[in-house]
Amino acid sequence: MSGAEAPLRIAVAGGSIGGLCAGLALRGTGLDVQVYERASGPMETRGAGIVVQGELIDLLRSHGAAALPTTHCTVRRYLSPEGGDGEVQRAPQDFTSWEAIYRTLAAAFPSDRYHRGATLTDFGNDDGAVQAHIEGHGMVEADLLVAADGAQSPTRRRFLPDLNSTYAGYVAWRGTLDEADAPPDLVRFFDDAFTFSEARSAGHILVYFIPGDGADTTPGKRRLNWVWYVGVGEADLPRLLVDRDGRQHHASLPFGGAPDSAIRDLRDLARREVHPMLAALVAATPQPFLQTIVDVVPTRTVFGRVCLLGDAAFVVRPHTAGATAKAARDATTLARALKRAGRNVDAGLSGFEEMQIEFGRGLVDYGVELGRRWAT
Ligand SMILES: Cc1cc2nc3c(=O)[nH]c(=O)nc-3n(C[C@H](O)[C@H](O)[C@H](O)COP(=O)(O)OP(=O)(O)OC[C@H]3O[C@@H](n4cnc5c(N)ncnc54)[C@H](O)[C@@H]3O)c2cc1C
Repeated sequence: MSGAEAPLRIAVAGGSIGGLCAGLALRGTGLDVQVYERASGPMETRGAGIVVQGELIDLLRSHGAAALPTTHCTVRRYLSPEGGDGEVQRAPQDFTSWEAIYRTLAAAFPSDRYHRGATLTDFGNDDGAVQAHIEGHGMVEADLLVAADGAQSPTRRRFLPDLNSTYAGYVAWRGTLDEADAPPDLVRFFDDAFTFSEARSAGHILVYFIPGDGADTTPGKRRLNWVWYVGVGEADLPRLLVDRDGRQHHASLPFGGAPDSAIRDLRDLARREVHPMLAALVAATPQPFLQTIVDVVPTRTVFGRVCLLGDAAFVVRPHTAGATAKAARDATTLARALKRAGRNVDAGLSGFEEMQIEFGRGLVDYGVELGRRWAT
């Protein structure tokens, strides 16, 4: 490491939610942080929904970020597949979108420290330092490499090659529909509620409004967002994960990727399985997309001067509404542990790993339990 008073140099690989949370939290403790993101252009996304959790809001507030654009509802509505208005309970809740979170985090982080088209391709990790090879930046020397490189983390695979993800036995079909394009009866029916319903055979569907294009939360500009958990045998997954151009995917079909035949099958299934208003919502949604549900539970997350953060460490089920909050929590935990440890970086990392693993395991178990109750 360089001069005694020089701040620790942190290289973050991955500039999505986890990488940006790490960037903000670590800079907040005075460290010298650079974020390297593989995507070269703007992070394009249709911005599916995310339930707002305290960990993220705390991190944004503590680091001078703007207010997160959110939508709001006052009740939960529980529907039955047979139809009707269901049962309503008062339960206020805020929602947001991936796009809204990304924009808010990115606006709070210095743009000259955020590098696009900057893929981590290799690294050396010894003697209390990391040499990270970053596309377009050559060899970057750092005191710590934070791998926030997502659920398919190449860094995790390198350190834990035998760790597999465990398929949960079901997938999440997701959809978003611009409020302006939605039939008015659907807007009225789903407005101001977090709507849940069992499907007739098995599985579970939920609906809420999220910010629309440009994170706009104005009524009329929002989006209806839904997630439907559908059981799919492991042997049937490869067939389901072929996109409309015939390409095989392994974990998800992105927005616009699902073939027309799969969307037709989904709409037919909805007509048979779920409340008529939910079936109408699925039918009105132009491009549903798909994510397989898996658990990933690493036994270690710190390897010398490299640590895993966010989805690169634990992958939890969406029922927990916890992936984004977990990324924010990891970032805050890491920043606090390093601050407490001062120049004893290894001790700080060890404290971080212990807390991260305890929390990650708990959240995975919680997701498995919710999945057992709701989705199977
Ligand atoms: C474009 C996008 C849209 C998403 N939309 C939603 C959503 O609507 N709802 C939801 O619940 N979750 C969504 N997610 C996932 C969500 O961000 C995560 O589940 C969670 O917030 C934890 O984020 P993460 O940063 O740990 O992982 P991720 O969000 O998966 O980010 C990992 C990042 O690492 C980058 N990366 C990978 N390899 C390298 C490398 N070698 N070098 C440099 N960078 C690398 C990837 O390009 C990516 O930006 C989305 C992720 C992305 C990338």
